[in-house]
Amino acid sequence: MEKGKHQGTRPEMGTPEYEEWRKRMLARRRKRLQRERRKRLIAMGVALVLVIGGVSAGINSCKGKKTSVSRQDKISANAKTDSAKDTAASDGSAADSKTSDTAGGSATAKDILVQADILAQQYNYDEAIKLLKQDSSYSSNEKMQAAVKKYEETKATCTAWPLEKVTHVFYHILIKDTSKAFDGDYKEADYNQVMTTIDEFNKITQTMYDEGYVMVSIKDMAKADENGNMTEGEILLPPGKIPFVLSQDDVCYYHYMDGDGFATKLVVDDEGKIRNEYVEDDGSISVGDYDMVPLIDRFVEEHPDFSYRGAKGIIALTGYNGILGYRTDESYETRPADLDDNKVEWLNEHPDFSLEKEREDAKKVADAMKAEGWEFASHTWGHQNVGQISLEKLQADTEKFKKNVDPLIGGTDIIIFAFGTDITDAEDYSGDKFEYLKNQGYNYYCNVDSSQYFVQIRDRYFRQGRRNLDGYRMYYNPELLEDLFNAKDVFDPARPTPVPPMG
Ligand SMILES: [Zn+2]
Repeated sequence: MEKGKHQGTRPEMGTPEYEEWRKRMLARRRKRLQRERRKRLIAMGVALVLVIGGVSAGINSCKGKKTSVSRQDKISANAKTDSAKDTAASDGSAADSKTSDTAGGSATAKDILVQADILAQQYNYDEAIKLLKQDSSYSSNEKMQAAVKKYEETKATCTAWPLEKVTHVFYHILIKDTSKAFDGDYKEADYNQVMTTIDEFNKITQTMYDEGYVMVSIKDMAKADENGNMTEGEILLPPGKIPFVLSQDDVCYYHYMDGDGFATKLVVDDEGKIRNEYVEDDGSISVGDYDMVPLIDRFVEEHPDFSYRGAKGIIALTGYNGILGYRTDESYETRPADLDDNKVEWLNEHPDFSLEKEREDAKKVADAMKAEGWEFASHTWGHQNVGQISLEKLQADTEKFKKNVDPLIGGTDIIIFAFGTDITDAEDYSGDKFEYLKNQGYNYYCNVDSSQYFVQIRDRYFRQGRRNLDGYRMYYNPELLEDLFNAKDVFDPARPTPVPPMG
């Protein structure tokens, strides 16, 4: 779990300097909000023009580079199933334009229009236009031609967002049952500081969406070539939209959290959707949306424009308790003499344990998540403090991650440091630890930083600071979150207060 660093420039609370600083922050925020309101008004004007133009609302369009093919394929597939009825509703006559191929198999014009609509809602106008234009009925289909015109118009309103002004927020596993997390045991303080409740998360997500925030991938912010050379990416958004990066740490469902009111694993349901399992008091298992991944998936089903070209968040994994709720680490099979007590206990309760089966199941979930736009990162195998450990220990830990986790997630070039630490305090990366990690294929690095923006795009790496949206931050530094949401409206009354200070 991370303990967020304080912003270096913030004076001590309660001092006159603090008051002055707070006023400055508030004034700055007020100005920014005014600017954004103006931008939104302009955007609304554009949307109005579009509606008058005769095409369904919510269609935006900008020019952009093609992103991950699998992401786009999945979006197109989603478009068919999830939004067919939306479009039918918003475009009542869509059925008329059916190319009616009763043999089945070939997509109807209506399907194509729905798919194009989703692509455009997710700011991928070029793909939407291409999809329509390559359809055999395009030359005779006025709806398709009108849609292309709209997408081209919206695309023309888009501008490249300054990459150094992309914020990155993160969570830990969300609390499903506050009465169990906050039950007065020795873990309560930790949960209260660094965890977020599902209610809080849903409020934050809705507020950020309402403010115009859109999830983007760090891979859209910077590109790595096959030699690990980095170049700036491009994020093209219409007025009123603000990109941000989302991540979640320790998505392993550790043994120590059992019985504390958290989901226990991620699963893929019969429809192919990602869900959670949760163990009820009587031992029965409920399946539902009890953590960030399925909650965001459901939110994007409702609001496709919350995702830039299908991007979701980054899921940071350690390996020592396995990943995603599956006990995939080899230690569960090899059972070394110094095996942790909670692993021994879990193995005793699961005499039918099969490492192969756990890995197979975890890989199935990871594959489904990648297809939905999720990315994976190393959080180090053993939740290491990379700032403090020796190079040798970092090497041994990285080898364990590459052996036990990489095969399940298809490898990763993103590393999100545990405890919010970093490999150096210096302005730029250099030295043994960086050279080692770079040599191991890591191109994207994230730490924890309470500044609104911390982005470095250098020749050999991308680095971004992340902001913890947790009990500690909401309670002690609500002013640091004002660009995102109002902490007072979000803070869960089920939390014991005061939130304990960091020890
Ligand atoms: Zn962590």
